[in-house]
Amino acid sequence: MRQPRRTGSETRAADLRHTLEAAIFAGTLRPGTRLDEVELAERFGVSRTPVREALQSLAASGLVDIRARQGAHVASVSLPMLLEMFQVMAELEGLCANLAARRARPEQRRKLEETHRHLVDVDKENDPVKFYEANRQFHEALYEASNSEFIAEQTLLLRNRVSPYRRYITFQPGRMIATIEEHEAVLAAVLAADPVAAQRAMRDHVNLLGDNLTDFIASIPPEALTPPGERSTAARRTARILEAANEAP
Ligand SMILES: [Zn+2]
Repeated sequence: MRQPRRTGSETRAADLRHTLEAAIFAGTLRPGTRLDEVELAERFGVSRTPVREALQSLAASGLVDIRARQGAHVASVSLPMLLEMFQVMAELEGLCANLAARRARPEQRRKLEETHRHLVDVDKENDPVKFYEANRQFHEALYEASNSEFIAEQTLLLRNRVSPYRRYITFQPGRMIATIEEHEAVLAAVLAADPVAAQRAMRDHVNLLGDNLTDFIASIPPEALTPPGERSTAARRTARILEAANEAP
C-alpha cells in the first residue's frame, strides 16, 4: 500500500517534534521551560502552523503541557508523581533484568558485556554527559535482552518521560562509580542466568533509597517541578477518566 504523501507542514512539524523531543530527553530544554510559538517559529525558520502541530503532538505523549492563557511548557511533574514514576521504573527495569536472565541470547549477553565495558571506559574520562549516554546504552541493551517487546516498549516510554529528571541524579558526585558497581551486579546475575538476583540488583539500582533519595530531591531545581496542588495535563486527563469511571452505573 502506498503511504499517503506528507504535506510540507506535516514534515516540518515531525522534524520539529523530533528536535524538541531530543532536547527534552537530553535536558537542554528543562522541565517547566516555556515553549513560545513565535520564538520557536523564528528559531527554526518555519511558520507557526508546524510549531503548533509539533507542540500538540508532544502534549499528546505527555512531554509538553499546554494550558489556556499560559501557553506551552516542557511538562513538569510534581515531586510525589516523580517519585512514583521512579518506583514504577524500578519495577519495570527489574522485570526486564529478570526476563533477560532467563531469555538473553548469546549475542545479547555479549552486547550487555560490551556496553558495560564501554561504561567502565567512559567513566575514566570523567565526562558526565558521555557517562549518561553509555549508561543509557546498557539499560537499553537489557530491555532488548528481555526479549519481551511490550515490556521493553513500556519501559522505554517511561524511561524517556523520566529522563529529564534522571540527569540530575546521574550528574551527582559519587553516583557514577556506584552505577558501575550496581551494573556489575546486574550483569553477573544475568550471565549466571539468575532471574531473582538480576531483578533485585536492577530494582535496587533504579530505586531511589535513603541518601540517594534526599540527594536527588535536593538536586532538582524548584522550577523543574510542578508546584504542589497543580496538575499536569496528563494528571488532569487521568483524573477525568477516573471520575467518569466512578460515575458510570
Ligand atoms: Zn544504570
